[in-house]
Amino acid sequence: MWDPSWKGYRKMYDERVLERINEGKAGYSKIDYALAYASWIVHDAFKGAFAWEKIKLQRTPAASIGIDLTKIKYEVGDPHKMSVYVKRAAKFFGASLVGICKLNRLWLYDGVEIDDKFEYAIVIAIEMDADGIATSPSALAAAATGVGYSKMAFILACMGEFIRNLGYDAIQCGNDTALSIPLAIDAGLGELGRNGLLITPEYGPRVRLCKIFTDLPLEPDKPIEFGVKDFCRKCKLCAIHCEANAISMDDEPSFEAVCKSNNPGALKWYVDVEKCYLYWCENAIDCSTCIKVCPYNLRTARKTLSPEEFWRLGVIDV
Ligand code: SF4
Ligand code: SF4
Repeated sequence: MWDPSWKGYRKMYDERVLERINEGKAGYSKIDYALAYASWIVHDAFKGAFAWEKIKLQRTPAASIGIDLTKIKYEVGDPHKMSVYVKRAAKFFGASLVGICKLNRLWLYDGVEIDDKFEYAIVIAIEMDADGIATSPSALAAAATGVGYSKMAFILACMGEFIRNLGYDAIQCGNDTALSIPLAIDAGLGELGRNGLLITPEYGPRVRLCKIFTDLPLEPDKPIEFGVKDFCRKCKLCAIHCEANAISMDDEPSFEAVCKSNNPGALKWYVDVEKCYLYWCENAIDCSTCIKVCPYNLRTARKTLSPEEFWRLGVIDV
């Protein structure tokens, strides 16, 4: 987006939406796009979701006479017990998975500075709707993604306020501020896959990620391994099905970047995210095919679903 020499420079991936609707293809109708655009609304409209400070005073009778829980610090005697509270709160607010890690500042974006007191990251994974994703690359899969982002806004806001009400600080982040996937790996939520996404044991890559940095004393989790790297060496399904040929077919991961938008120096299969984005522009909506076809997703999801079947689910038997 910053490089004028690139083909996709400042190109919006849904620029061709009207053309796409007029083509009359299943999964790209006005009703499908209406759902996809609606799905993002909480994420886009609720800026408090990504607050670094108290969003709003408590709306309670006590608040009206100046009683503010944020001013009274909850003494944490046992970080393990506090972690249980935090994880339960995250699940209560709608998280599918939650883990905790020490905040490794290597994962912060260039130029971002976070006070040293923010020692921990609470990392949350939100399951995306399996039936929507099963229609990828249609606009209905994009709707599943959008719902993931809107749920993220809700959970982040509630978690940030929960922590502040205990007298501690919270920095709520979506895709901003730091790389979510390495933090999720550190927090024990999964491993990195060939498709460049976090693979969780529970949902495979069919999750959205967000994180909260805090000074609340917590107990970090440990990274997990359940054979993803070995499985990816042979599987390659995401690479085979990617319309953009953006995913590596190499047997072995490497340290070499494949495009200007990658960060070199980590051992992994690099995804050509520029090719990926240009395919989104051609598709006139984002794509989730490398999530849909992953066998770790298919443990808990159906393989494919037509847009017509999607719309009838739960309303008319399919
Ligand atoms: S999102 Fe679609 S285009 Fe991009 S890497 Fe995945 S399968 Fe390929
Ligand atoms: S589709 Fe196969 S190769 Fe790709 S991330 Fe999933 S397991 Fe790995």
